[in-house]
Amino acid sequence: MLERIRIVLIGTSHPGNIGGAARAMHNMGLADLALVAPRCEALTADTVSRASGADALVHDARSVETLEEAVADCTLVVGASARSRTLPWPMVTPRALGERLPEELSSSENRVALVFGREDSGLTNAELQRCHAHVHIPTNPDFSSLNLAAAVQVLAYECRLAWLEHGEPPQEASDAPTLASHEELEHYFTHLERALIAIGFHDPAQPRQLMARLRRFTLRARPERMELNILRGILSSTEKLAHPERPATGERAAHD
Ligand code: SAH
Repeated sequence: MLERIRIVLIGTSHPGNIGGAARAMHNMGLADLALVAPRCEALTADTVSRASGADALVHDARSVETLEEAVADCTLVVGASARSRTLPWPMVTPRALGERLPEELSSSENRVALVFGREDSGLTNAELQRCHAHVHIPTNPDFSSLNLAAAVQVLAYECRLAWLEHGEPPQEASDAPTLASHEELEHYFTHLERALIAIGFHDPAQPRQLMARLRRFTLRARPERMELNILRGILSSTEKLAHPERPATGERAAHD
């Protein structure tokens, strides 16, 4: 189970924090680290020193440009946030997150990503809106922001605690429904926005949080791959009705 939990660090600016996060992960038995557009060199003397022997995780880390790339294959993406945001999102406590993992990971197809933000500004609203849920580590409200590696430590500990308590999840039968991956969900949201523009329902110049609300609704539902394909089929037919003269794009044709 632990090998299918990925820690994603976005825009980290201190190599020491990358090393500290690697140490926290290795202590708790996690190994899958992804760095999204780090704002520092990932492997420096500081990294190695703070990693205290866990720098192999940084050597093996995948470095990518976008959050989408880092979590494309994940079926549950949870963003760690020190602050509450304007559009409330489903929240989970660190303990409840851990307890949810054995079931989430009972299908070997499923992967979980825990996403952490920048030391100075955290995660952007756009990044948080790409997550199924947010997790807040309860802290002193007057001083709520933990050091990045400390935040990784707390959540990695909850993962380990749940694993120790529940053991390896029993693997579900292979005919269990496949959940949509992050990548499939993002393709769906792109398609949804295009169709809503085509029928005049959505004006990108006056978004009024429409797409954010539709994202929250869809992500809360945890759609299966098959259900998302049905929705995409409906969108393709809607687009065809709205603009019969427009040829289907490659992407559209694949889902007609
Ligand atoms: N100054 C930033 C916080 C940066 S701390 C802000 O105000 O948002 C770096 C990252 O550690 C955060 O983006 C978040 O992912 C994680 N983190 C820090 N404190 C946390 C907390 N109390 N709960 C959950 N995540 C936290």
